[in-house]
Parts: sequence; structure tokens; C-alpha cells
Amino acid sequence: MKTRAVRDGDFWVLDGVKRWITNAGVSQYYTVMAVTDPEKRSRGISAFVVDKDDEGVSFGAPEKKLGIKGSPTREVYLDHVRIPADRMIGAEGTGFATAMKTLDHTRITIAAQAIGIAQGALDYAKGYVKERKQFGKPIADFQGVQFMLADMAMKLEAARQLTYAAAAKSERVDGDLTFFGAAAKCFASDVAMEVTTDAVQLLGGYGYTRDYPVERMMRDAKITQIYEGTNQIQRIVMARNLP
Ligand SMILES: Cc1cc2nc3c(=O)[nH]c(=O)nc-3n(C[C@H](O)[C@H](O)[C@H](O)COP(=O)(O)OP(=O)(O)OC[C@H]3O[C@@H](n4cnc5c(N)ncnc54)[C@H](O)[C@@H]3O)c2cc1C
Repeated sequence: MKTRAVRDGDFWVLDGVKRWITNAGVSQYYTVMAVTDPEKRSRGISAFVVDKDDEGVSFGAPEKKLGIKGSPTREVYLDHVRIPADRMIGAEGTGFATAMKTLDHTRITIAAQAIGIAQGALDYAKGYVKERKQFGKPIADFQGVQFMLADMAMKLEAARQLTYAAAAKSERVDGDLTFFGAAAKCFASDVAMEVTTDAVQLLGGYGYTRDYPVERMMRDAKITQIYEGTNQIQRIVMARNLP
């Protein structure tokens, strides 16, 4: 956390760079975490609302990504951005706690994104195997293919049910939400990576081309294992919050 906010009368002045910001340059408002008291470490971080039109706000070039190309990702530069003090979210020093609590809820939306991608890949593969003939019959007739589809559907359904359970806990703000949010995100994204990779496999050579949608789904699935905290970090969160 390097971005700094320094109080100046009724204003805060923000300086720093934020990397990997989804929708940067498109969104009007940005939630920015900045250090307000370096001595206090995580308790010295505060959250602010920054407007795209504030003086000193600018954006980097779009990142050239493996997937989710429909979602722009850019850097946000904060160069002496002077904002009124009432743009602070909550009390001074509560930014880190706010961020951690927010992640408990937003991770579940990444699980849902992963499930949508995986369902799309499974649906496509299910249709394809009925059309494609090898050795005189549709490849759907081969048990090796059937077992792959059964595993894909089984894992996907398990991920969906865990995500629904986590979403219900998010609505109720249950005490074990932190574990469930991390578990849903981690499990669903790992399943999405597996299912989309298997969908590419089931399409054979065509799976590897851009003429069919499953290679895009495989590339899109990858980000769900990375953002909102990598799946290694989710496992740390789960281990610290075992139910
Ligand atoms: C397309 C995209 C959009 C994004 N959008 C946003 C956004 O809108 N807002 C935002 O704030 N961020 C956003 N991010 C940032 C994203 O959340 C981070 O990239 C992600 O959390 C990983 O952090 P890192 O890149 O610093 O990886 P690193 O922390 O450098 O991790 C590198 C590797 O080391 C592993 N690792 C690190 N620490 C540990 C540990 N303690 N134990 C075990 N393994 C470890 C990681 O799991 C990973 O495999 C986005 C990223 C991308 C790629």
C-alpha cells in the first residue's frame, strides 16, 4: 500500500498509482485505499471516493490481457488529487477493515462468474459431442467422453451449490461468511478452469481454434483464479477461518 493521503485543512491530497483497475477510465467513481497514517500499518489505511473528473486523475494504457477482453483494465494515476474531507468512506483508519469485509461479499460474485463461464463451456461441449462423429458414431456414445461430461457436470453443480450457500450467508452476514466467500470463489474458479479445459479437449482440434467459443471460455476462466485474491490467498483465508 503505497498510495498516500495527506490532510490539508478540509481536504485530503492523494498521491499514488493503482494497478489492475477494472473499468478504469470508464467508471465515474473509484474507491481508493490510501495510507493516512504510516505508523499504524493496516489501521492507518483509509478509503476515499475519487471522481474521474477530479483534477490530477488520469489513466494508463489498456492492459493486453489473456482473457476477459470485454472488460477494460488500466492503471489509475493520482497526482496531487485534492478532495473534500467528506469524501472519506467511514472513519479514518477503517479502510483496510472495510476492504476485507467487502471482499467477503464480492468474492461470491467471482464464484458466480466462474460458474457462468463453466456452464457455457459444458453446454457447448454437450451439444458438440452429439454432432461430431468418429469411428462411425457420435463421440457422445463413447464412455470415455461420457465420463468426462459427468465429472464436469458433477463438479459444476457442487460449485453452484456452494456458491448459493455462500450467497445466502452474504445476505444474512453470517459469522462464517469469510470462510464461505473464500471457499466458493476458490472452488468455483478451480472448477471453471478444469471444466473449460475439458471442454476444449472434447472439441478436439476445433477446441483449440477461435472458430469455437470454448478457448475463449478457458482464457476467461483463468482470471477467476487470480483476481479478488489468488486462490493461494483464498486458501490462507480459509485456513485462518476454519468453520
Ligand atoms: C484483469 C485484472 C483485473 C483486476 N481488477 C482489479 C480491480 O479492479 N481492483 C483491484 O484492486 N485489483 C484488481 N486486480 C488485481 C488482482 O486482485 C491482483 O492481481 C491479485 O490479487 C493478485 O495479486 P498480485 O498480482 O500482486 O500477485 P502476487 O501477490 O504477486 O502473486 C504472485 C503469485 O504468488 C502467490 N502468492 C503471493 N503471496 C502468497 C502467499 N502468502 N502464499 C502463497 N502464495 C502466494 C500468488 O498466489 C501468485 O500465484 C485485477 C487483476 C487483473 C489481472
